[in-house]
Amino acid sequence: MDCIFCKIVAGEIPSHKVYENDSFIAILDINPSETGHTLIIPRKHNENIFDLDEDDARELMPLAKKLAIAIDRSLHPDGMNIRQNNGTAAGQEVMHYHLHLIPRYSGASPDKKDFTALAEAISDQII
Ligand code: AMP
Repeated sequence: MDCIFCKIVAGEIPSHKVYENDSFIAILDINPSETGHTLIIPRKHNENIFDLDEDDARELMPLAKKLAIAIDRSLHPDGMNIRQNNGTAAGQEVMHYHLHLIPRYSGASPDKKDFTALAEAISDQII
């Protein structure tokens, strides 16, 4: 299957990994809306909310909370959007389910261009 997120999950193309477990990986978005923009991606390929695996659905929100807290502790944003697009009409571009964690800053976004260091900084704050 020609799916970029399946290839990232399989390690066939590189990514900046923030977290992984048996069911999910979390990576930095390659084209971030803000510094620390992170994607949670189920390993299992499902397109969007309409066919998302039931176990993945159950595990997702506790994981989103865990990673949101890690982003908050590492980057100290002023807020955070948690967003998820379903279908082209809703702006979905990659047809493999993923949840966006987008920290928001009242002032300027922290200037962190080193994605390896950034992923590590977030990862270090996971509790
Ligand atoms: P969506 O519009 O919800 O489908 O979002 C897709 C997201 O995936 C966008 O924010 C892209 O910047 C991001 N993206 C696409 N390719 C990659 C990649 N190879 N590594 C990390 N993020 C990616």
